Amino acid sequence: MDIHEYQAKELFRGAGIPVPPGEIATTPDEAEEIAGRYGGMVVVKAQVHTGGRGKAGGVKLAKDAAEARAHAEAILGMDIKGLTVEKVLVTPGEDIATEAYVGVLMDRKKQAATFMVSPEGGVDIEAVAEENPEAIRKLTVDPRYGLLPHQAYWLANFLYEDKALARQATKIIGQLYEAFQANGCSMAEINPLITTPDGELKAIDAKVSIDDSELFRLPDVAAMRDTSDEPAAEIKAREAGLSYVKLDGDVGCCVNGAGLAMATMDLVKYYGGEPANFLDIGGSSNPDKVVSALEIITADPSVKSILFNIFGGITRCDDVANGLVEATSRIDIDLPIVIRLTGTNEEEALQILEDNGFSAYSSMDDVVEKAVELAKA
Ligand code: GDP
Ligand code: MN
Repeated sequence: MDIHEYQAKELFRGAGIPVPPGEIATTPDEAEEIAGRYGGMVVVKAQVHTGGRGKAGGVKLAKDAAEARAHAEAILGMDIKGLTVEKVLVTPGEDIATEAYVGVLMDRKKQAATFMVSPEGGVDIEAVAEENPEAIRKLTVDPRYGLLPHQAYWLANFLYEDKALARQATKIIGQLYEAFQANGCSMAEINPLITTPDGELKAIDAKVSIDDSELFRLPDVAAMRDTSDEPAAEIKAREAGLSYVKLDGDVGCCVNGAGLAMATMDLVKYYGGEPANFLDIGGSSNPDKVVSALEIITADPSVKSILFNIFGGITRCDDVANGLVEATSRIDIDLPIVIRLTGTNEEEALQILEDNGFSAYSSMDDVVEKAVELAKA
């Protein structure tokens, strides 16, 4: 889950990192009012889930409240990499002497948090990594010990020759690691970490991604989710507790269990079709999940046929059958549905389906072949 800069800054403040104050505006009026209270130079910053806002015109310095208002007017509603700006952060403008990069991310290969720092901050770090890799220092943190003080100093020392600055940076790097750990981050980045002309370090930008699997233990962080730029189907699937990934094909798949869902998609391909989605309704017995699943699948205009493949273990086939009947009575579905049900309470399920004018296959090959054929018809 990506969070906005202003939310990431909140997490950073919580760990003690020096971050300038800031407030959110959704209208030019609000931006002007906030800027007026800060007085002097302010920065108006688009809050969207992407980097490179500066280059796209989404970060603008204003010398006074009137100019802040004008910038807010231009930035609100702006399109940045396909995302519409709905909020801006208004924050006091800082005098910048230098800009550095400090980031930490979970390295999947090493299975450990890995720091990356560079004295060449501000611009995009990918370009630095490509053109000038010696300007980046990396360090992998051993999760048994955490980030040790001398390691933080080794990173900080690469950023600043001045010992007073290096000491401040050592502290900030330690605090960044704390924020990273405490908030279940997969990535936490300060770019730029600036020095002011009087030798103070400040994090004036913040970018954070949270590992979705950590959210269950972090309700305050989970509440930071902004769904405004997520596809409707994904929001609905998450709320219903379904795993759903949209794909490019036309055979809508509704399966229980991730493994069976993968095998089903393979078989769709084997019979010459293309799956429209990965969808795992999970192992629980709940007809509502089936209703939600069918709503999501039928909302996708590229779906031409719907394939149910249920292997009843913990999932009860009769629950799935009831969900199917309920869904088809609630929503108008003019697509062909083919069903394969086998396992727990299979007999009851087949009876329910038969009573409601459906029939079911017991062979996985047959049902998939049929679904592919119907999608092509
Ligand atoms: P990003 O483009 O999305 O990474 O947004 P940033 O917040 O990093 O801003 C981009 C650039 O705008 C920074 O690297 C700075 O050069 C400049 N900038 C941002 N805030 C300030 C500020 O308070 N004062 C000054 N002088 N420049 C700023
Ligand atoms: Mn930045």
